Amino acid sequence: MQAARRAPSVGRQLLSSRPCAILGHPRPGPAQRHYASGAAQAVLDKSDSLSSEASTGAKPAKAESKSFAVGMFKGQLTTDQVFPYPSVLNEEQTQFLKELVGPVSRFFEEVNDPAKNDTLEMVEDATIQGLKELGAFGLQVPSELGGVGLCNTQYARLVEIVGMHDLGVGITLGAHQSIGFKGILLFGTKAQKEKYLPKLASGETIAAFCLTEPSSGSDAASIRTSAVPSPCGKYFTLNGSKIWISNGGLAEIFTVFAKTPVTDAATGAVKDKITAFVVERSFGGVTHGPPEKKMGIKASNTAEVYFDGVRVPSENVLGEVGGGFKVAMHILNNGRFGMAAALAGTMKGIIAKAVDHAANRTQFGEKMLCDSWCIEAAGRVQRSMAALHSDPQQQELFRNFKGISKALVEQGGVVTNNPLGF
Ligand SMILES: Cc1cc2nc3c(=O)[nH]c(=O)nc-3n(C[C@H](O)[C@H](O)[C@H](O)COP(=O)(O)OP(=O)(O)OC[C@H]3O[C@@H](n4cnc5c(N)ncnc54)[C@H](O)[C@@H]3O)c2cc1C
Repeated sequence: MQAARRAPSVGRQLLSSRPCAILGHPRPGPAQRHYASGAAQAVLDKSDSLSSEASTGAKPAKAESKSFAVGMFKGQLTTDQVFPYPSVLNEEQTQFLKELVGPVSRFFEEVNDPAKNDTLEMVEDATIQGLKELGAFGLQVPSELGGVGLCNTQYARLVEIVGMHDLGVGITLGAHQSIGFKGILLFGTKAQKEKYLPKLASGETIAAFCLTEPSSGSDAASIRTSAVPSPCGKYFTLNGSKIWISNGGLAEIFTVFAKTPVTDAATGAVKDKITAFVVERSFGGVTHGPPEKKMGIKASNTAEVYFDGVRVPSENVLGEVGGGFKVAMHILNNGRFGMAAALAGTMKGIIAKAVDHAANRTQFGEKMLCDSWCIEAAGRVQRSMAALHSDPQQQELFRNFKGISKALVEQGGVVTNNPLGF
């Protein structure tokens, strides 16, 4: 990944255009308003110049608007101001990502069956096996430890595909690598990484992240699960329970947060502080409850997990003793973008399905998105735009923020004679 980031060009543009629009060319009269967006101001500047030219009879200027919204009304996509982000992948990373996108998309289109997963309330074995073969359980694990070695941008692109097709699978994979073993990646010692990551990356073992408790949700610092160090210092004894743990019923490896007594070196006072641990189910004393019945993402497993006198070796402390809150927040902050990427994919999928339905659904003998409906709507938008350029009253409406929506409803893209009457 490139270390240096460029400032978004839209930000630069706004910074450089504001003094000019607001201070450099003040508009006379009390009706003047300042618009946060340079694009909105550009539209107004253009319509003003057109109306003054109309009154003087001068030839209209042919300045092209750079506004994304105006472009949409003209059937053009002017993306410069909408996608100002720097390119973060080098050529090799871009090429590698391109090679992955096709197979992952095909896997979700041809192999995974989201309806079946939903009915079974678990991800089908064939899907899990296929995902293991694709390397989907270790997307960000370094290749020398058996993973695919993706950076955040590459990971987000693939997760978007998963979210578009099956969020139940998305939660299973995300709980495993976005949070379940992310702590080992971020804070693990060399020995911890070498011991756990290869099997986690291949999907041979599944991971879960255990923070939430019956009395501790968003107030994560209030957890009650405890880990008491042994007198010999070789292990901690873990007691407590966690609720709503994704992969809780499937996992072999758990990142668990518990309160441990920590002695302040300066004062000698003992205070309970959170410590993070890597806990194996095979340590004994780890059990789980039945899968929760959920309204959606049914294929993902969510369960209560119990730790009853579990002996956790001291070398399984993740980060520092007493430093667990920081570990938890780093993991959650790091995993958050994965959820956003997956849900961006879900929204894309939903919009595609809605468009498909509207385009193919027939009522009153006509397709909902029939040609005549589209032509009618496009005509109204065109007439509305023309009015904005020639009619001073319409221009005033446009300047008034409330007027924008009113103008659209009365003059624009909303057809008033459709069968539902809006
Ligand atoms: C499907 C699913 C999977 C999950 N998977 C995991 C997992 O793998 N691992 C894990 O550790 N946890 C998991 N969780 C738990 C999840 O992280 C918690 O639900 C989350 O931390 C919020 O806690 P809570 O539900 O107890 O909400 P609460 O803490 O009760 O908060 C409820 C709402 O009230 C707001 N609020 C809180 N305090 C105040 C206040 N004083 N004033 C005003 N508003 C307030 C909060 O911001 C929130 O919007 C999962 C939950 C679900 C539903």
